[in-house]
Amino acid sequence: MEVTLKGKVALVTGGTRGIGSAIVKQFAASGATVATNYRNQEQAEKFQAEMKKAGVDIHIYQADVSDFDACKQLIETVEKDLGPIDILVNNAGVTQDTTLRKMTKDQWDTVMRINLDSVYNMSRNVIEGMLERGSGRIINISSINGQKGQMGQSNYAASKAGMHGFTMALAQEVARKGITVNTVSPGYIGTDMVMAVPEETRNKIIAQIPVSRLGKPEEVADLVTFIASDKAGFITGADISANGGQHMM
Ligand code: NDP
Repeated sequence: MEVTLKGKVALVTGGTRGIGSAIVKQFAASGATVATNYRNQEQAEKFQAEMKKAGVDIHIYQADVSDFDACKQLIETVEKDLGPIDILVNNAGVTQDTTLRKMTKDQWDTVMRINLDSVYNMSRNVIEGMLERGSGRIINISSINGQKGQMGQSNYAASKAGMHGFTMALAQEVARKGITVNTVSPGYIGTDMVMAVPEETRNKIIAQIPVSRLGKPEEVADLVTFIASDKAGFITGADISANGGQHMM
């Protein structure tokens, strides 16, 4: 089976490192024209240089996904530069872990704004075009900890569980218009986010994963690429896990 994204325009948020960059690379390898955005200029320049060296053309824009107007502007610019967006992947996300009794209002708000408000900010601004064209793919990168909860992550778990509620509601609104909306919930993947966890804690986490290792960003990217393709037209409103068997639903 060949999975191709030829002729598609994709926008992946937070795609200059981690899981997002693996999705960007896989989309480009599958034939899509790919845009992504960033906050951190230094990392974006590093990624751009890496892509240039590899001969891969990625369109990179600065935009904070927690800012509605910045998202609107980003989408308008991408559509002006590259054409209508066929695929939106809401990937950008952060953690600010601590127990609730120590969690500041700012830690709560920051995580909710970047992880969950962003999904509204981006989806709201692409949906009209997708409805007019009668096709589209929206894929929200949630987390195993949005499915099962995790001590010290009440902000993160709430934001990630909220993404799936959004997915199910929007999937019902737009299904008849040829648009699918899905959640992908990775388990622990070896990116900066997980490598920032102390080694001892990380080893305890790995001991709970039946396949006995962290996931690879490319393994999430392969799944997202399939859902983004025309082959996946009957999959909508789903929450698809990629977690090495750590949480079976
Ligand atoms: P990283 O920390 O490696 O990368 C996060 C990305 O999000 C970066 O590209 C970052 O951009 C971007 N980002 C963060 N805040 C903003 C913002 N306000 N505006 C624009 N971009 C922003 O994380 P991962 O690759 O590990 O995670 C990617 C997604 O997958 C996240 O949603 C995460 O919650 C989820 N996930 C990750 C898991 C894991 O084990 N790694 C497990 C389950 C889910 P910049 O560098 O410019 O700040």
